[in-house]
Amino acid sequence: MIKSLKGRISLVYLTLVIISSIVGFISVVNLFKLSGSIEKLMTANYKSISAVNNMIESIENQDRAILIYIDMDKQKGLDEFSQNNNSFVQWFNIEKNNITEFGEKKSVEKTNFYYTKYTRSFLQLQEIRNTLGIENAIEYYNKTITPYFNNTKKSLRTLKQLNEKAMFKGKNNTNNDAKRSIYIVLILTSLATTGGFIISRYFTNLFLKPIYTLTETVKLVKAGDMNQQTTIISKDEIGELAVEFNHMTKRLQQFEKSALGNLMSEKNRFIAVVKNISDPLIVMDNNYKIAILNKSGETFFNISEEKSLNKHFLEVIRNGELFDHISAEFNPGEDRKEKIIHMTSNDEDYYLNVVVTTVKDVENNLTGLIVLFQNVTALKEFEKTRTNFIATISHEFKTPLTSIMMGIDLLLNTEMGVLNDDQMNITTVLKEDCEILSTLVSDIMELTKIESGKAIFTIQACSISGIIENTYKQFKQIADQKSIDLEFDAEENLPLVSADFEKITWVVNNLVSNALKYTNAGDDIMISASVKNNMMYVSIRDTGIGILDEYKENIFNKFFQVKGNDLEIRGTGLGLSIAKEIIEVHGGKIWCESKLDLGSTFIFTLSLSK
Ligand code: ADP
Repeated sequence: MIKSLKGRISLVYLTLVIISSIVGFISVVNLFKLSGSIEKLMTANYKSISAVNNMIESIENQDRAILIYIDMDKQKGLDEFSQNNNSFVQWFNIEKNNITEFGEKKSVEKTNFYYTKYTRSFLQLQEIRNTLGIENAIEYYNKTITPYFNNTKKSLRTLKQLNEKAMFKGKNNTNNDAKRSIYIVLILTSLATTGGFIISRYFTNLFLKPIYTLTETVKLVKAGDMNQQTTIISKDEIGELAVEFNHMTKRLQQFEKSALGNLMSEKNRFIAVVKNISDPLIVMDNNYKIAILNKSGETFFNISEEKSLNKHFLEVIRNGELFDHISAEFNPGEDRKEKIIHMTSNDEDYYLNVVVTTVKDVENNLTGLIVLFQNVTALKEFEKTRTNFIATISHEFKTPLTSIMMGIDLLLNTEMGVLNDDQMNITTVLKEDCEILSTLVSDIMELTKIESGKAIFTIQACSISGIIENTYKQFKQIADQKSIDLEFDAEENLPLVSADFEKITWVVNNLVSNALKYTNAGDDIMISASVKNNMMYVSIRDTGIGILDEYKENIFNKFFQVKGNDLEIRGTGLGLSIAKEIIEVHGGKIWCESKLDLGSTFIFTLSLSK
């Protein structure tokens, strides 16, 4: 039994080659047979017919020679007779040695008999001619020679007919042989073709069957079913492949099991960590159905995890503000957002920093959300106390500061006597410092007012173009003095925004004032507004000193100032914090895009008036 696929394929080829050879051999044998029949036909009978024809011709010439001998020229007659006699004998011998047909021998003997008589009677005629004269010779010719002549010719014709008949018969036989050969070759060719086709088909299917089985198993494995083993049908190369394939799937199964095991233990570890986090935590799928609620969450929301599993967030925690924050769209490039929300649990007030983080799959599709509730109540209380304290201190600062400034003004106005140059310089510096201090106190008071929620916002429909134009007019002169090109560009017919006119004016003024502070002569400042995605975008772009990336986040923090600016600018570091608070109270966002030495753009958004 041949085991290798190569050997089996070779065997099939060999079988096909043998079948073709047999067909070829039988065809050749038939062709040989056919050619033999033709040969026989051409040599034997044709040779006899040709000999008979020549003999007839010779004997007819001899007959004419006899007449020449009798009537005209004896010698010529004798010569021609003997010449044709030689020819006759030569052809007769050929025919005698070429007897192929039944009855042919008898005719040859008859011919020989009559011809011998014929030639001998010519000798007799010569005698009669010489002795008895022409008349007697002619009579002898007519009576004796002519019958021999006729009988010889008759037996020759019989001979010819015999061979012609045989030839005709031979032709028919040859035709039949040829037909038979054609049929045999045709039948054999059809048998060989059909046999070859059946053999190739049978063996092709036989050889391919294990491949088909393997392919089906590969498809199942590809679909993720690692528990697949292919049936080993043959022991050839494909069988070896199947064995190796089964080893491979076994290894894959082991790998899958171990990977799954690792994954499971990782998952359990993750769940254990999550469950024991001291802050409440909820894990949801992308349809806001709860997947995990940790222990602290169970206590805080007063519901067991068991009851909340697979339920929509709002079914479990009926807090619209919280859900709005969780379900709000993430900004591009953002994976996490936070917001401090006030909530009550077990009749106690809490401030929770709600941190929402996305869970994504390998293809970056959102698959879930993790919501962490950081308890910042203590911080918030501390912040409140701090704000109140600062507000009180600032307020207490305000009255003496106003008296100091009034005093300094009186000194500078020389109403209380003329100051010398040194006194004048010191008093001027004092005035400037007091002004900064006064701004700082005002800023702190404004900020604490907003942060503590005491600031009053009068939200109404107002024109952003109007605000921009006012700011432009207010700062144009200062910009010109500093040789800075201040421009504004607000799209025509801008819709109204929902805002506190004065507070937003304060924000735009502050941003333009900053832009003027952090630009040099020759720089440009552009104030513009446009509508995108149903929101108003206001931007203040300058070509000034710009801000390093690392500071961009911090500049909105209280008292933060970028150190090392070449420009000697003294500010409070509170302007942007106040602007941020104001914009956020409006439900908008404020951010900065900047490149060091190229300039900065401050952008904020506002909702359109409904
Ligand atoms: P300040 O009173 O110091 O201007 P702000 O809160 O308004 O306080 O700004 C905080 C810091 O942000 C500034 O000290 C400055 O370093 C930086 N800053 C603000 N606006 C610009 C600007 N247009 N170009 C460069 N830096 C700026």
